[in-house]
Amino acid sequence: MNEIERFHESNSEATITGPHPEYDCHGRSTGVVYYRCAGCDIEACRRADVREHCQCGDLR
Ligand SMILES: [Zn+2]
Repeated sequence: MNEIERFHESNSEATITGPHPEYDCHGRSTGVVYYRCAGCDIEACRRADVREHCQCGDLR
C-alpha cells in the first residue's frame, strides 16, 4: 500500500476507492456497495460519508 500512501501524501484530498461490492460470509454479493478511504480505511455506503468521517487530515 506504499504507492497509495505516497499518492495520498502528495494530495490534500484523501484517496477514496469504490464502489466496492459487499459480500456476505458465503461469498455472495449482498447488493450493497461501499466506499473506502485508502488512507485511514474508513468505510461507508456513500462516498460523501467516507469523506466526512475521514481522519487523514487529523493525522498530519
Ligand atoms: Zn482518510
